[in-house]
Amino acid sequence: MKVELDLSKRPDAAPAPKSLAGMSLPALKAEMETLGVPTKQAGMRAKQIRRWAHHMGCRDFMEMTDVAKDLRVQLSDAYNLDRPAVTDHQVSVDGTQKWLVQFQPGVEGESVFIPDVSKSGALCVSSQVGCTLNCTFCHTGTQKLVRNLTAQEIVSQIMIARDQIEEWPSSMENRRLTNIVFMGMGEPLYNLDNVAEAIDTISDGHGIAIGRRRITVSTAGVAPKIPELGARTGAMLAISLHAVRDDLRDEIVPINRKYDLQTLFEAIRAYPELNNSKRVTFEYVMLKGVNDSLAEARDLVKLLSGVPAKINLIPFNPWPGSPYECSDWETIEAFAEVVNRAGYASPIRTPRGRDIFAACGQLRSESVKKSAAEKRREALA
Ligand code: SAH
Repeated sequence: MKVELDLSKRPDAAPAPKSLAGMSLPALKAEMETLGVPTKQAGMRAKQIRRWAHHMGCRDFMEMTDVAKDLRVQLSDAYNLDRPAVTDHQVSVDGTQKWLVQFQPGVEGESVFIPDVSKSGALCVSSQVGCTLNCTFCHTGTQKLVRNLTAQEIVSQIMIARDQIEEWPSSMENRRLTNIVFMGMGEPLYNLDNVAEAIDTISDGHGIAIGRRRITVSTAGVAPKIPELGARTGAMLAISLHAVRDDLRDEIVPINRKYDLQTLFEAIRAYPELNNSKRVTFEYVMLKGVNDSLAEARDLVKLLSGVPAKINLIPFNPWPGSPYECSDWETIEAFAEVVNRAGYASPIRTPRGRDIFAACGQLRSESVKKSAAEKRREALA
């Protein structure tokens, strides 16, 4: 379903003042100093703005009643609290919502809100526009990398969702947006500095207040960055595994040519604080006749031995021109049973938002497609 957008509030052509919405605390403090706030007070002012902007969802400096009046005026002149423009918004028959966010002209990315029956809900955010990875079953992989998103741009996706589902202030009870998953466009571990800064802002209890255990970062397997992710963010780890043999993984998740399964699993085992209450999620897309045999299910169990793990089986979501089919339902269930019997939770992920192309791997924005030469170059990089 298409939703009519109110575009009347979009900034006109004049360069807009800088937005403070979604900025990290250190960045806010630096802005206060630039504005001429004495260094001794800059930290305190940054904290006040953080609470109003990120906890209350405030969009007008004049409402920040504990900030001195002249500073409020000064802030209003120099800055705003705008979010990036939403250029498309769709709602699926199953309640999933997708926003196309314009970070700057020509730089657009998608975020997807997936409400759950149990009243919790996850927002799937993008960390890059486009992607360099070329996983053969993923639509985003057909799109060139445009650029990394900044920490502020990552956080702004959450602020947009909170605006739209009307969940300010952050502390409200029974909220529907309870979890953040870095499973949108891009490879978060190729943008780790910004992802880590964004996670600091998201998990800040005086701000957006979504705890680190409710934030999951998914990677296709940038092995050297995996332990660092854990040490810097305390987030939950998800691995896009999809194959249990190097020859097949080399083909469908080409980053495997750089970091093979053994290297990947060494890095996973070094992820800090893994135990039965902090498990690694392994994502496994079910591709008919490619990776869905029972022998592969048994090999998967062997590969995971000793790793506190849960396995998410993802029915393949088709996209225009995609070269695969989704495994049959009986095959997926039989695969899940082998994994379950070995003692691992292995929920089959219900595809959400397929009708609006919001499901896993279907995200892309209208941007330049990769040429074959670019794909080869990236695979060899
Ligand atoms: N680059 C990161 C973050 C993207 S997460 C990563 O690879 O983990 C998106 C998830 O959806 C990944 O597990 C990805 O492999 C999976 N996916 C991609 N295309 C898909 C498709 N067509 N159907 C189902 N899952 C898909």
